[in-house]
This record gives sequence, C-alpha cells and structure tokens, in this order.
Amino acid sequence: MIDGKKTIYWHVDAAKPDPEIIRETGAIIRRGGLVAFPTETVYGLGASALDDGAVADIFRAKGRPQDNPLIVHLADLDRVWGLVVDVPPAALALMEKFWPGPLTVILKDGGVVAPRVRAGLDTVALRMPDHPVALALIRAAGVPVAAPSANLSGRPSPTTAEHVKADLDGRIDALLDGGPAGLGVESTVLDLSGGIPILLRPGGITPGQIKSVAGEIILDPSLESGGPVSGRPRSPGMKYRHYAPSAPLVLLEGSPAGMIKEIRLLIEEAVIRGDRVGVICREENAALYPGAVVVPAGMADNPAGVAAELYGALRRMDLLGVDLILAEGVEPLGMGLAVVNRLRRAAVKIVNIGAARE
Ligand code: AMP
Ligand code: MG
Repeated sequence: MIDGKKTIYWHVDAAKPDPEIIRETGAIIRRGGLVAFPTETVYGLGASALDDGAVADIFRAKGRPQDNPLIVHLADLDRVWGLVVDVPPAALALMEKFWPGPLTVILKDGGVVAPRVRAGLDTVALRMPDHPVALALIRAAGVPVAAPSANLSGRPSPTTAEHVKADLDGRIDALLDGGPAGLGVESTVLDLSGGIPILLRPGGITPGQIKSVAGEIILDPSLESGGPVSGRPRSPGMKYRHYAPSAPLVLLEGSPAGMIKEIRLLIEEAVIRGDRVGVICREENAALYPGAVVVPAGMADNPAGVAAELYGALRRMDLLGVDLILAEGVEPLGMGLAVVNRLRRAAVKIVNIGAARE
C-alpha cells in the first residue's frame, strides 16, 4: 500500500541545491524509495532503475499501466555503455550534441536495468536531464534513476512542485521543490534501436535539430494521425489518453480566424445549455471570448511559451471546475509539434476548421 506515506518536502535552490538535502534524497533513492524532482522538462518521479521493487512502487504511486515503460535518467554519458547492447554512431552523435537536454534515446537493452523499467520490451529509454537538481540527485543516488513524469497517470504532467503535491502527496517519500520546470513539456523520444531514427514523441528537441545531426528522421505513424494507431505501438505510452484535464477538451485546429469564430459559436451553444465553458487560447486572443472562463497560454508567435504554460493551463481548468474546455490549436512546427501532440492526446474531439468555412 503506497498511500499513507509521509511525504517529506524540501525547497532547493534550482541552480545550486543544498548538498546535504541532495545527499539525503539520493540515499532515499538508493535505498529503494521514491523522490520527485524538477527537471528542465517537467517534474519526474525517481526510483533506482536497478531495483525492481522500487520501480513497481512508481507504477503503483502513479497508477501507471504496467506495459508503459520508464525513461532511465543518467548524469554521465559514460554510464550508457553499461546499460545497452551497443551505441550506434548516430546515437552517440545525438547524445553528445543534445545531452544534457530534453532528448530521450531508445537503444537495445543490455539486461542491467530492472525488468519493469522496460515493461517487457527489449529496448531501454535513456536521457540526461539538463537541470542542476536532477543531475546532483542522480549522482548522489549512485544508480541510474528511472523516472516518469510525477503525476497521476492520465493527468497533465506536473510543471511545478504544487502540481506534484496535488497528485502524489502521501504516495511518495520525498519531493524536491526547485521552482517551475523550464520547458513545460516532456522530452523528445527517439528510437535509435533500429536503422533510421524514429520520432516516437515530439518534445524540446525538434525533428529539424535531430536531422541536422543524424541526417534523417522518420515520424512514427501515430504522430501523423494524432491518436493511437492499430497494432502494437512502438512506444506503449502512445496508446493511452494522456495529459488530460477532468473536463472534456475540444481542440480547434485550422486558421486563427476560423478557430476564433468557431470557439465563439461553441461558447454561445454551451452557455445556452447552461454549461460553464473554459477556453485555453493565445494571450493576444484573451479578450475575444466573452461568456467563457479564459486561461491564456503563450503567444501565437512563440510555441515554446505555449509549451511552458500548457499543462498549468489544463490543471487550472480543473480547479476552475468548467464543464467543457475549448482549446486553440497551434502550428505543428518546431516546439509547436510537441504542443499539438499533447493537445491532441488530451482532446476527446478535434475540430478541423477548413479554409472554406471562413
Ligand atoms: P513519461 O516518462 O511518463 O513521460 O513517459 C515515457 C515515454 O517514453 C512513454 O511514452 C513510453 O512509452 C516511452 N518509452 C519508454 N521506454 C521506451 C522503450 N523502451 N521503447 C519505446 N518507448 C519507450
Ligand atoms: Mg508521463
């Protein structure tokens, strides 16, 4: 039984965490406990990747489906060779270029990490986070750290310690509060276990950046469709609805003018039904939706800003208790690709506004 633990909270300086606190939390991980910590993407929930029981506790604490594998976090590139069968040249070039940073690479598993980490696959996902607290914690733990996002499964990922507390208080041993996570969306997941790199999840490192180092990249078919694909998904996490607030979210995609017009119509309909409706939109459009509770997230010309505020906006909608969420889409370019992917996965319905409707 995980619930009923006393979660210990520590505030740490994100740039220069107190070595004593890091030593103590590192020891908790080494002993098989669970510690939530900030990274440059979202907050992670860490356990020793070598301890199958501790990894089982992560799944229990999050309510995560057993078949959804975890990313193993490292603080030193040298550690990679001990965990995998081999390191292809493209993988090494990508790790050297983008680590520490929001790139997760999937390689053939070397049989060292605990079986539950891989959820039955013959591959292992590896990443080096670009955050002083995360790196210090992993070094202090002295083991590779398996860490999914520190939220209840299915909920929006946590970008602040408050989000972690709301989901996991009493279910984990400790939480390091180092202020808001930077990027706001999870790492890019890239499968390098075969020949050509396959993008499984868009994130902080864009397809263009990967192509500039690896020469080529294929997008997994599930990214084109936005939803689950038939058959066995290459990345098991893809088959679940994700990142979702409590209220149903309808995503509007298409030209900005068309989206705005459609959202205004949908608000009118919702108000007539007596529904309380929330809108997640760009800051410059915040005044365009009277009758709705508006939560702005970023500016249209800065998808990174939208990414940073997206999960906070989804959680805010839960707190506001709306019945329906209408969300403006963004252009699927650069960081926008990660934002679109998360919004599509959170949505119960995607409305595409054809140019003809304007
Ligand atoms: P999270 O840490 O919650 O952001 O989720 C990690 C993501 O990485 C999920 O979508 C997993 O399915 C994916 N993942 C982890 N390990 C592997 C692996 N060995 N092969 C494919 N996908 C993986
Ligand atoms: Mg997650």
